[in-house]
Amino acid sequence: MQPVSTSDLAQEGQADKLPTDKSPTGKLTEKLPTRKWQALTLRLADIARRYPDAVLASSLAAEDMLLTHAILEGGSGLGIFTLDTGRLHAETLALLDVIEARYGRRPDVFRPHEEAVREHVQAHGAYAFYESVALRKACCEIRKVEPLRRALAGRKAWITGQRRAQSATRADLPDEEQDTTFGLYKFNPLADWSEAEVWAAIRAFDIPYNPLHDQGYPSIGCEPCTRAIRPGEDVRAGRWWWESSDSKECGLHAGNRFSIKPEAVRS
Ligand code: SF4
Repeated sequence: MQPVSTSDLAQEGQADKLPTDKSPTGKLTEKLPTRKWQALTLRLADIARRYPDAVLASSLAAEDMLLTHAILEGGSGLGIFTLDTGRLHAETLALLDVIEARYGRRPDVFRPHEEAVREHVQAHGAYAFYESVALRKACCEIRKVEPLRRALAGRKAWITGQRRAQSATRADLPDEEQDTTFGLYKFNPLADWSEAEVWAAIRAFDIPYNPLHDQGYPSIGCEPCTRAIRPGEDVRAGRWWWESSDSKECGLHAGNRFSIKPEAVRS
């Protein structure tokens, strides 16, 4: 496969925008194959043809910004939404304005029901997620899963930016699957992408991204549930870092937990 070269990008008027050849975690990003980007574009067009109402669930993380760029620049017409849990970093929320300024379209935003949040906080406190996995999942259910259900209601398919290499819980991630949790089809068009390839695309096309990625956050969720990672740690090690690795899903991709290989679980 041929990598994207500076001359390829110069033809597209983007060579002057190539800032570095590394991802925020220091991985070289020079190996994005041109055919891989083309395959992604074709894949999104195929999804739009098969499921015109398919929608990208964007967490505004690097992978989702890449997909947002591919969707909005590629003209596939696919929808995009994000979940504002009420506990996101300011840097994450600021990306909504950045996307609108760059692409002329703002992702739809779904928020939790205020009453459900209030009742949970009154009953358990504002930081109950640190106390047990059950309380953490209850918070994720209110702030993420229920709004996701609303965002997907009536649709036939959704799209995620999950990759197999992100964590042990995603090692068996299929390219597409019937999502039995939410009752619709699910596409993971970046399933076989590496972190280096994601950042190669971001650098090559000058795709906007969350500045927290440059501060040691390869995976970004809610502010109180995300920390920067140390060198050599799993890219999702900063998510719910106080829990064991096999519980680290929030319910948006519940099936991942059941495909985990015991030998792949870190101690
Ligand atoms: S990630 Fe943390 S703050 Fe966000 S919904 Fe889940 S438990 Fe609540």
